[in-house]
Order: sequence, then structure tokens, then C-alpha cells
Amino acid sequence: MMIETAAFSDTYTTARDRFGEAALAAGGDVQQFVNPNATGPAGETLSLDAAWFGPRDASAVLLNTCGTHGAEGFAGSAAQLDWIQSGGPASLPPGVAVLMLHAVNPFGFAWCLRGTENNVDLNRNWLDHGAVHPENPLYEQIHPLLCPKRIDEKAIQRLLDEGARLIAKHGLWSIEDAISRGQYTHPDGFHFGGTSLEWSTKTLQTIVQTELAQTRQVAFIDWHTGPVGDGELIFLCFSPAGSSGLAQAKHWWGADALSSEHVDQLWGSKRPTRHGILFWGIEEAVSDHATFAGAVVEFCSASTKSNAADALRVSMLERWLRFEGGLDAPEAASYLAEIREDYAPERESFRTNVIRNARMTYAQTLAGLAEWRGADAAD
Ligand SMILES: [Zn+2]
Repeated sequence: MMIETAAFSDTYTTARDRFGEAALAAGGDVQQFVNPNATGPAGETLSLDAAWFGPRDASAVLLNTCGTHGAEGFAGSAAQLDWIQSGGPASLPPGVAVLMLHAVNPFGFAWCLRGTENNVDLNRNWLDHGAVHPENPLYEQIHPLLCPKRIDEKAIQRLLDEGARLIAKHGLWSIEDAISRGQYTHPDGFHFGGTSLEWSTKTLQTIVQTELAQTRQVAFIDWHTGPVGDGELIFLCFSPAGSSGLAQAKHWWGADALSSEHVDQLWGSKRPTRHGILFWGIEEAVSDHATFAGAVVEFCSASTKSNAADALRVSMLERWLRFEGGLDAPEAASYLAEIREDYAPERESFRTNVIRNARMTYAQTLAGLAEWRGADAAD
């Protein structure tokens, strides 16, 4: 079958408008949540858009998000639009509904960045900020290397040299983990988890609490991009070993795809420590009335990296644009193009694979959700 990639949009605004129009045309119940704290590059309004498909009293719901990491949303947005336009809403199994959320982080999506308007990584932000934040003592030592005033050869060489010294002392995984596990001490640094809940997190909480209040089974797919590849999928399930959530995910998407060996291999290393991710936040928010299963699903997108500095480059560019040069710097256009090429490449092979793999995943998840609902009803 010919795979259409027309569902890909060139800008956040186009993607958002197409999502809303297609959802309405397919009979969806559409809501818009405007972000009052930020605007887009052309001063445009930013919003998280929601569309409900299927019966309002469905006991089983697929919650599907995109754009948690801003610019990673181009692929997820295309996956959603393709599902809506290719007859997805009309072919839902009985008792099953889909709640699609478009652009959880509309600021990042619109500006082609990963973090929010406050440089916050939303997948480190959903936790109790009144409590003591998770520690990350090693990050302090790496931060200056990741945050040069200029991204030039000297800065790259310093990162490689000093990084090698730190790796020799602490081990490779500990350094990778310190960079990406999230930190709560450097607002201008990498994977900053914030010191309060972001607008996006609070909006998501409200949506989950009101829209999923009657739900008994929640399936969750959060579309992302970034790892090296060409549209292949990586299922990052955050349910613990032996849990019913992990068993469901394996049943839908395959035990091999969910095995930690397979995931670590695709991811490139053992997965880092995590705190404050959406997956756990949503699970907890529905835990008194619903069972929960799902995954962060990555569409591989970036080109092969030659070394550690290369692998960190787009994050360094984003940070530089935010805190050193500014988004209106002479370098901005080419830096943003580089970032976009990693998260949302325009290659036809990538786009085709995204649509093909998204269709398969939606079909597997909805069939699995219907089966799960039936099994629970029979108990
Ligand atoms: Zn991501």
C-alpha cells in the first residue's frame, strides 16, 4: 500500500489548525487551551488542543499526546492527523474512545525547540515541587562544559577533554545519566525539571482529571523523536518489571519490542534514571479508578553521531539560543535548522516510516484496549 505523508506540516500553526479542522470534520469533540505565558515566533497564539473521538462514556480510552518535547511534535502531529483523516474515528471498537492532545508544549513546537517557555523539560516536571527535589550532584561538574559562551572548536575540544576525564573517574553511564536524568538546580542548563509545575503540566492534569474521570482502562502513547534512525520505533515503557501495565504493553506491541535489552540497544545505552515524567503523573492521576498501560514511543529521527559532542550538539544549540545568543542572533536560523533536522527531518523515508509505524501502533493499541476492556468486564 502506498503511504501518504501529506499529514506532515511545516509549522506549528499549520499543524495545530489542520488538527482542529480534521478533528471537527471527523466528529471529534474539540477543546482549545491557550497558553497565556508565551507566543510563537510571529507573535501567534500558542495552544494545547484536545479532541475526543468515540462515546463520551467509554470505559476504555487511548490518551495520545504529541509535542511534549516541542519540536519533536512534528512527527506525532502527522501521526495523529493521519489517523483522524484515514478513518480512525469511525472504526473505533465498541466502548473505546480516543483522546488526542496536540502540542503539549506548544512553545517548543512553534519555536522548534525541545523545552518549554521556561526551558523546562516536561518529562522531568510532573512531581511535587514542595518536596525536596531529586538529586543530581554530578551535573554541577558537567554544566559548564555543556554551556559555553560560544559553540566553537575550543568549546567542543574542552567538552571532549574534560568529559573524558569525568568519564574515566565516574564511568560513562554515570555521566550520561547526570546529563539527562533531570536537574533542579540550573534553570539555564540541560533537562531542567523546573521548580514549579509548568503551564503544560497543569493543563494536562486538568484534562486528565476532567476527561478521564469515568475511565476504567487508560492506554497511553506519548509520541517523541530524537534517537538516531529513520522512523523506527522505540517503546519506552515506565511500568515496573512484573507489573500488569508492562504485561499489557508487551501484549499489544510485542515482548521483544519491550524487552530492556532491545530497548537499551536502540537507545544506545542503559536508560537513565527518571523522575517527574508524564507517564507516572498520568498513571497516578487516574490510579483510584483506572488501570493504566502505555509507553513513550520514539520515532528514531536523527542522523548518526560521530562523537559525544556531536550527540550533545542540538541540546547545546538550543541552550545557546535561549541563554547566550538569543533567538534573534545571526546564528539562529542555521542553529534552528540543525535542531529541526534532528527532531523533524524532511526526508521522505523518515516520514513514510513514521506514518506506517504509527498506523500499526494505533491499530495494535486499540485492538488491545478493546480486549483489555472485555477481559475486565468479564471479571
Ligand atoms: Zn522526547
